[in-house]
Amino acid sequence: MSSSWTRRDFLVGTGAALAAVQALDHFHPCCAMAADASTASSELFELKPVADGIYAAIAAPRYKVNSNATVILTNDGVVVVDSHSKPSAAFALYREIQSITKQPIKRIINTHFHWDHWQGNQVYAEAFPGLEIIASERTRENLTRPGAGSGGIPYIEKQLELVPKEIEKLGNDLASATDAAQKMRLEANLRQTEAYLEELRQMKPALPTRTFDRTVSLNVGDREIQILLLGRGHTDGDVFIHLPKEKVVATGDALIDWMPFMNDGFPEDWVRTLDALEKFDFTQIIPGHGGVMPKEQLAFFRGYIADLVAAIKAANAEGASLDEMKKTLPDRLAAKYEQGMSKHPLGRYRDRIGLNIEIAYQKVVAKT
Ligand SMILES: [Zn+2]
Repeated sequence: MSSSWTRRDFLVGTGAALAAVQALDHFHPCCAMAADASTASSELFELKPVADGIYAAIAAPRYKVNSNATVILTNDGVVVVDSHSKPSAAFALYREIQSITKQPIKRIINTHFHWDHWQGNQVYAEAFPGLEIIASERTRENLTRPGAGSGGIPYIEKQLELVPKEIEKLGNDLASATDAAQKMRLEANLRQTEAYLEELRQMKPALPTRTFDRTVSLNVGDREIQILLLGRGHTDGDVFIHLPKEKVVATGDALIDWMPFMNDGFPEDWVRTLDALEKFDFTQIIPGHGGVMPKEQLAFFRGYIADLVAAIKAANAEGASLDEMKKTLPDRLAAKYEQGMSKHPLGRYRDRIGLNIEIAYQKVVAKT
């Protein structure tokens, strides 16, 4: 499998960007082949104004998850933060952006390396030769590093092995389903997954072309855009996009409106990183998943990670095993966090608390 990638013609940087703007309507092989391309953009996301010229593309809950994106209009081109999980979704947002401005999209920022935040990059790179793709230095490394976690080129290969198995399982579940509503849901999930696999097979990953290893402030046309590197959190390469004048921050998955995914994270650093973020002056948060939130929500999300870590450490000091923690801690933390972490159909408290305990235990106590 790995050799196939070396043969592929990656879109790395600007030199390989193949298509002119006007060609995009015709070619986009990513989307033309995929059944999901016919999905209305409203089924993928809702574009919400957040401040003057700033929009949040809030992803609709779907079986195949998609990240939020942020759209920043400037008088020197459009900046898009995160590019969704697949080219067809990025293409749908691209079309929406075209309906609000004639400015070209000149810059993409990837908040971190996870698959659902960067796999749409190629749409913008193909449409706009000269596109700058911005990320932290570490995120760029993670995007090509085998074993980095749930994103990057090696993870595309892994998905090419895993998604066919997922399709097989969905097919089997569908064949044995008897309930009509369940059948409908499984059929829809199967279609989404088949379309996603088709996109994966044709993916031409576009990697970052400009990276930073510390916080920078960019003047993009008439906007000031700060790219904050505040320490490890959801990954070891997280960046926050801060618009000081508009008092908006886009956080990627270092801050979301449902339960965190911690597998590639650093729980104790994460709390400190969110402390550092809180010191900046902003009123609205565009999270990696879920709806636009007020600044106050930061303390709630950080509190969950801090309390989870503290509860695991305390239970460990009392001699509790991981299995015992998984039995007792979900109920103990529920009063404070279950409701607030279960606002959306995805990533609910009870869906993820067990895995969060396991991962945080491994990282904080067992240090594996
Ligand atoms: Zn995500």
